[in-house]
Amino acid sequence: MRITTDVDRCVGAGQCVLTEPAVFDQNEADGTVVLLTDEVGGEAAERVREATHICPAQALSISD
Ligand code: SF4
Repeated sequence: MRITTDVDRCVGAGQCVLTEPAVFDQNEADGTVVLLTDEVGGEAAERVREATHICPAQALSISD
């Protein structure tokens, strides 16, 4: 599964980092999302899928 982020939409809420810290991090300056990897599989993919649903800014996208 491939992940993309729209940093312009991100409000730095950090929900994605709490959901899957191996994939998402936050910019130290403004809190916006930083991708640690843009490809995931297995259980991490399920958590990333969950993160796309809970992101309050709809800043995360996934594709197969
Ligand atoms: S959950 Fe959404 S708004 Fe919050 S840091 Fe992650 S991408 Fe940004």
